Amino acid sequence: MAELVFFSGTMDCGKSTLALQIDHNHRARGRQGLIFSKNDRGGESVLSSRLGLETASIEVVDGMSLWAEVARQRIGSGPVDYVVCDEAQFYSVTQIEDLAAVVDEMNVDVYAFGITSDFRTRLFPGSQRLIELADRVEVLQVQALCWCGARATHNARTIGGVMVLEGDQVVVGDVGPQAEVGYETLCRRHHRRRMSAAAARAGGTPATLPLDLSLELPLDLPAPASPRGAHTAMQGEPDVCRIRPTET
Ligand SMILES: [Zn+2]
Repeated sequence: MAELVFFSGTMDCGKSTLALQIDHNHRARGRQGLIFSKNDRGGESVLSSRLGLETASIEVVDGMSLWAEVARQRIGSGPVDYVVCDEAQFYSVTQIEDLAAVVDEMNVDVYAFGITSDFRTRLFPGSQRLIELADRVEVLQVQALCWCGARATHNARTIGGVMVLEGDQVVVGDVGPQAEVGYETLCRRHHRRRMSAAAARAGGTPATLPLDLSLELPLDLPAPASPRGAHTAMQGEPDVCRIRPTET
């Protein structure tokens, strides 16, 4: 029985690499597939990985029927055994519903890859619909890291290195300090404090930091003898960050 699987994770956790690997594995077994992507960092109609691999893909555009696209390929080019969908957070609700119909009515496996939430920590509509409809949601195990060394669970948008919480949900950028609009993975603590790597390096508390007093942990909390992870002492990190409860 075909299934709809949603592989989710933050940026930088290897989603596109796994998408390429899954495509390769199926192809190596003689199965025929389609690859969809949208707003890939490598450009239109390409699925690329930060490790340097890439392959051609079908660019998903607004209003496109993924159901019709799969049906057209089946008529024109033969069987479609599986579909790989990268950057699925950018697909519309209707397009995700198309994918569920492709699984149920055409018996085609669909492997969707995407991040769940945007730079404001809100679910992308496409990702929300995937969570609602998928047979399985797999959280990718390659962990992206925050600058502090903790597991990064949130995506931050930066403009000129400064973290922002306003703006359109979809603005294509890339990770990297040079980018005007950039993205960065942070732990929840530093996302809440709006402390990007650049802000931490600058050594100060960002002017936009909300509620900094209320965020301080109780001072009598025992510090762990050996903090987990590479909790590097970045300059300017507030002292309260060094007092961390043992992670579970
Ligand atoms: Zn952090």
